[in-house]
Parts: sequence; C-alpha cells; structure tokens
Amino acid sequence: MGNFAIIVGKKEAEKVRVMLIENKLLDESRKIKRYDDWVEFPVKKKIKGYKLIEQKEILYRNIFPPFEEIKRRLKGRISKKDFEKLPKKWEKFGNVLVLKMEGIEEKEKIAKVYADVLKCKSVLEDVEGIRGMERKPIFKFIIGNDGETIHVENRIKYKFDVSKIMFSSGNIDERIRMSKIANEKDIFVDMFAGIGYFTLPVAVYGKAKVYAIEINPIAYSYLKENIKLNKVEDRVKPILGDCRKMVPNRIANHVIMGYLNSLPFLPYALKSINKEGIIHLHQKCKEKEFPYILFNEAKKIINGQGYEAEMIFYKKIKSYAPHIMHGVIDIKVKNDNKI
Ligand code: SAM
Repeated sequence: MGNFAIIVGKKEAEKVRVMLIENKLLDESRKIKRYDDWVEFPVKKKIKGYKLIEQKEILYRNIFPPFEEIKRRLKGRISKKDFEKLPKKWEKFGNVLVLKMEGIEEKEKIAKVYADVLKCKSVLEDVEGIRGMERKPIFKFIIGNDGETIHVENRIKYKFDVSKIMFSSGNIDERIRMSKIANEKDIFVDMFAGIGYFTLPVAVYGKAKVYAIEINPIAYSYLKENIKLNKVEDRVKPILGDCRKMVPNRIANHVIMGYLNSLPFLPYALKSINKEGIIHLHQKCKEKEFPYILFNEAKKIINGQGYEAEMIFYKKIKSYAPHIMHGVIDIKVKNDNKI
C-alpha cells in the first residue's frame, strides 16, 4: 500500500479533515503537512475527487510506544531474521543511543529508524561492553559520529562522550542512596569519581564537601564541566591522578570506592578517613561471597591497618554474569590512635 496523500486548499482543509476522520480515511500514523496555501492529508487509500500524490518524504507521528513504532516502520522493509532480532531494550543518554545489534545484517537502516523514533543524533553499537582499568566503552558508531551529550538523571546533568566514557544506568539507586546519606557537615572522598556519578548527587542534594579523584584525563575534564553545570564549584574539589597517590590525608568521614575491584585500594581509603568514618566499598564478586566473605576480606585489610571494622549496610547493585554480581558494603571504621 503506497503512502498516499491528498492535497486540499487551505480554505476547505478543516472541512476535509473532519470528513477524513469521520470516514476513517486519515492515516493517523503520518503527520499532516501544512503549507501557506494548501494542506497535505496522509490517507489510507486513494480517494476520488481530490488531487492524489504518493508521499516521498514521510513524517511519522509517534503514536505508538517506541518499540511498537519502530517495528511498524521496519515491518516489510528488512529481513524476517533481522526483524526478529530488533533490540527491545536500549541505553539512551541525552540524545545518543546505544544498541546491542549482534547478528543483525542491516544495522544502518535499522539504527536510522531507532534514531528517528527516539529522537537521537547518533547511534552506537555496544560491541564489547565496558573494558579496562579506566572502564572504557567498546562501542562503534552506526549513525552519526558525535557521542557528546548531556544526560539528565534525577535532575543532575552529566555531560560526557558516550563513545569514550561509560555511564552505568544500573547504578541509579546507589547514586540516589549516596545523595540521601550525605549532609552538609560531611566530607566525602570519591576515589573513582569518573564524570561525577556519585560526587554530583552527594554535592547537589547532600550539600556535602567532596574531594573527587579521577585518573582518566577525559573523564576528569567532563567531571570539571559537570561540577560547573550543576553549580557545585563551592563544594567539590576535582583531583586528577591515581587515588593511591592523591587521596587527601585524614580529612573525610565518608569514602566512596566506586570501582569493581576496590579491595586492594582499602589502605588508601583509610588514609583519608579522619579517626572514624564510613567506607562505601563496591566490589564485583561471586554471589555466594556477598556480603560476609567479602566483608571478612575487607575486615582483615582494615584491621591490618589498625582500624576496627563493622559492616553497617550491604546491597546487591546488579548482576554481572551467572553467579557474579556487583555489590556495595558500608563499613564503619574507627581508629582512636590516628591523629
Ligand atoms: N562508580 C561509577 C558507577 O558505578 O557508576 C563508575 C566509576 S568508573 C567504573 C571507575 C572510574 O575510576 C573510571 O572513571 C576510572 O578511570 C577511574 N579509575 C580507575 N582507577 C583509578 C585510580 N587508580 N585512581 C583514580 N581513578 C581511577
């Protein structure tokens, strides 16, 4: 069935519009196009008595839930195999989209429809997930070549380049929890600050002071931009470098260790605690090790540094692979002798 439309003079357009709706002839999935002297009504079939055209440039109305709309636009235009593999889920950061497209042939054609329906300027394929010490995304551009965007979560602005820097949407609850824990009397050290994932909610909502450390210069530059974007320059001190060298001494009552292998960095976290405080330790571990085996390993390291350790909270953040998870434990540490 072609994409037919009828052309109607401006004066009679409203009357015709009503007639088309009453007779269920208006194709409501496509937009009505209004020009100075005439109106182009998309119609479901050829209608006698009006100038009929076949539309070349189609403007769709998003009247269906996004994935339904995407399927509607692609049905019959791609192979059955591709159609069955259409990604039902995606990651949308600002106006940049990330899709998993394994096994799909017509990636560009499909990504273009996703970009149109979800109003994105670029689409990246998640090829190998997040890799390495600096947690870099292994993504490939399918549509566009600009990954920079401002992603708003919980009214906090995160500017970053999706093709270069990770953003874990799955950690949103933990970002909110951190913002609720913090208050203006607190001093936080965020040892793996990234672009400010935890630092910003703690400073914006908790109004706490934060020393935010980040080793990756690209992430660090966005961290600085985001501190300005969220107007917390008075509370957040960004520090470029390795947290093992850069942690400020004896200053904090909260330390955030938002890294998937935080255990080896515990001695450095303790250095920044002022007598007593809470360490929010993130760790990727086996389900069966969480939280008690993990806590005991941490306790050994903490006691070895002359501190007492008490687990006061724990939570599974997300699954990683079968029986492997990312969890966080809050450990209260204390050492009266440290001045
Ligand atoms: N905690 C964030 C979350 O869960 O959304 C993710 C932070 S990201 C995974 C970890 C960050 O720590 C990356 O930006 C990485 O560059 C940084 N990083 C890794 N090792 C570091 C180190 N030794 N010192 C400072 N930053 C480090």
